[in-house]
Amino acid sequence: MDIIEIAYIEGDGSGEDIWRASKGIFEEAVLRAYGGEKSIRWINLIAGQKSLDKEGVLLPEETLKTIKNKKCAIKGPLTTPVGGGFRSVNVYLRQVFDLYVCMRPIRYFSGLPSPLKRPNGIDLIIFRENTEDIYKGIEWQEGTEEARRFIDFIREKSGIEISYDSGIGIKPISKRGTQRFTKWVIEYAIKNKRKSITVVHKGNIMKYTEGSFRQWALETGKEFHEYIRFEDEKPQEAIEDTRIVMNDRIADNMFMQIILKPQDYDILLCPNLNGDYLSDACAGLIGGLGVAPGANIGDDVAIFEPTHGSAPKYAGKDMINPTSFILSGALMFRYLGLEKVAHLIEDAVQKTIQSKIVTYDLARSMDGITPVKCSKFGEEVTKRIVENS
Ligand code: NAP
Repeated sequence: MDIIEIAYIEGDGSGEDIWRASKGIFEEAVLRAYGGEKSIRWINLIAGQKSLDKEGVLLPEETLKTIKNKKCAIKGPLTTPVGGGFRSVNVYLRQVFDLYVCMRPIRYFSGLPSPLKRPNGIDLIIFRENTEDIYKGIEWQEGTEEARRFIDFIREKSGIEISYDSGIGIKPISKRGTQRFTKWVIEYAIKNKRKSITVVHKGNIMKYTEGSFRQWALETGKEFHEYIRFEDEKPQEAIEDTRIVMNDRIADNMFMQIILKPQDYDILLCPNLNGDYLSDACAGLIGGLGVAPGANIGDDVAIFEPTHGSAPKYAGKDMINPTSFILSGALMFRYLGLEKVAHLIEDAVQKTIQSKIVTYDLARSMDGITPVKCSKFGEEVTKRIVENS
């Protein structure tokens, strides 16, 4: 039998409930997809609050080493302790492995509650640059010596007055970072026959960060002229022009567009902060954070994780929705070249939701539905994997 080794971090808070509900789904899908010829061997890693309690560090060396060796991992949400100067382990993992592409598919599964009248057909992907922008974590607190020195420096060099009671944050966006990210997304779009790529930016205000992001992204698009045409460019007349349409939208307009006509958009290419905001806003269109999967991908390593956090108030209650984690698993199997496994999982999730078997977060927006527990949802998805294979 072919053994697939997969490193996983269960996660904090509700992470344990989600992991317990999802593990069996992944194992069954791998077994069924390949007629019992493949199976998973899990490698358990720790990080976050659990690791802090046990080993006194948020991210043990062993965890980093194993992810580096295995090149792929799936993780549950990790708590970032509030105060005490702790940095987010999630952000750190993205930076240390240079996972510069964050992928957040927003796909509507029929039967999900949505605030939209016609959510059917929503199938877009938010790509978020994952290593730059204000997430770089370059910040100085109001009143510190560093903040004061910075304010003095700006006054000396440019004559611009910044009030001394200001906190300071730096927003770096580089040409190299934008180009490699855009190139990755364009290549993905070509391979997966996507229809359009929209660059989302606030370049009218932040000219040399988000404005430059727009410029560098569109310039990168021009290098792929065989596959890409720009919105203002006429389609080729002689043949059906199937090239990917590339355009851009200012971020505030994009938020309105995505609510009014989400079906008009396909791939959104965003700097880090815009992508973060848009991912949660778009998750709201298709049922909420409980159903929105995610992946963080670099040239060497990829880490798959749900969009949501550890939702501590639901920890241990067997209530939380595991769909986001389950679908993140599907993304991981697809990344590993195990398309059949990914398809089995997604299909079983769709059928379970269509049967109106949902957890509390979805049930509360649906009429007359009694929610099932997190573990029960997992069992129902597994049952459908077995039935479908
Ligand atoms: P959160 O854990 O995402 O939860 C916020 C709310 O979203 C929950 O109270 C719940 O809403 C809903 N929700 C989240 N996940 C859900 C799921 N699977 N099923 C159903 N509903 C779900 O955000 P937070 O409370 O702001 O953050 C908690 C901790 O997680 C913090 O330490 C934060 O730093 C961390 N975090 C980690 C990650 C990550 O690991 N990548 C990401 C974000 C946050 P209702 O109460 O309305 O039901």
